[in-house]
Amino acid sequence: MITIALSKGRIFDDILPLLKSAGIEVLDDPDKSRKLILDTNQPDVRVLLVRATDVPTYVQYGGADMGVVGKDTLLESGTQGLYQPLDLQIAKCRISVAVRESFDYAAAMKQGSRMTVATKYVAIARDFFASKGVHVDLIKLYGSMELAPLTGLADAIVDLVSTGNTLKANHLVEVERIMDISSHLVVNQTALKLKQAPIRKIMDAFALAVKQKD
Ligand code: AMP
Repeated sequence: MITIALSKGRIFDDILPLLKSAGIEVLDDPDKSRKLILDTNQPDVRVLLVRATDVPTYVQYGGADMGVVGKDTLLESGTQGLYQPLDLQIAKCRISVAVRESFDYAAAMKQGSRMTVATKYVAIARDFFASKGVHVDLIKLYGSMELAPLTGLADAIVDLVSTGNTLKANHLVEVERIMDISSHLVVNQTALKLKQAPIRKIMDAFALAVKQKD
C-alpha cells in the first residue's frame, strides 16, 4: 500500500492532473465527502487528507509514504528526515511583506526603527528581516493576517500572495517579495527503500508531467 498525504484546497486541486499522469484517480470528492482516507482507482494507493502543516509530520514519521506540501510550510516546519525529490511547480504563489497603503515601509526600513510584523511564518520572517539588518518584533498569528495592520496590531504582515486580490480588498500593499513558493513532493526515506518500485513509478510520472508542462 502506498499512502499519499495531501491537504484540501489548492494543493489537492492542482495535484489531481499529476496523479492522473501516474495512472491514479481519486475516487472521492473531498468537498462532498467527510472521509479522511480516500480510495483511488489503484487498490494499493490511498490518499490521506491532513492539514497542510501536518503533511511533513505524517511523512516524517511514516504515517504516509509521501506527501505534497508548500515550500512555505517546509521552510517553517523544518525538513528533518524528509526526502524532497521534486518541485512540482503547483499551487504557485509568493511570500511577501505587506503594509497599509499609508504606511511608509521604506522609511521604517531605512531608519532602522523597530517594526512589528504579524505572521504565520515566524521563521521565514525572522530570517528575512535579519538578513536586512532590521529589528522586528514578531507576532505569531494563525490566520487572517490582513487584519493585523488594519487594527494596529502590527505595522506589517508576512503572508502568501497569489493574485493580490486579498491584499487589495483590505487596502494593503505588497512592498517586498521574500520568495517564490510552490509545492514539493516529500517522501519518507524508509518507505523509499522498502517500497522503492511503486514510489519511484509515481515520482517518475510526476517528474515527466512537470517537465512536459514547462
Ligand atoms: P490572493 O488573494 O490570490 O493573493 O490569495 C491570498 C490568500 O490566499 C491569502 O490568504 C493566502 O494565505 C492564500 N494563499 C494564496 N496562495 C496560496 C497557496 N499557494 N497555498 C495556500 N494559501 C494560499
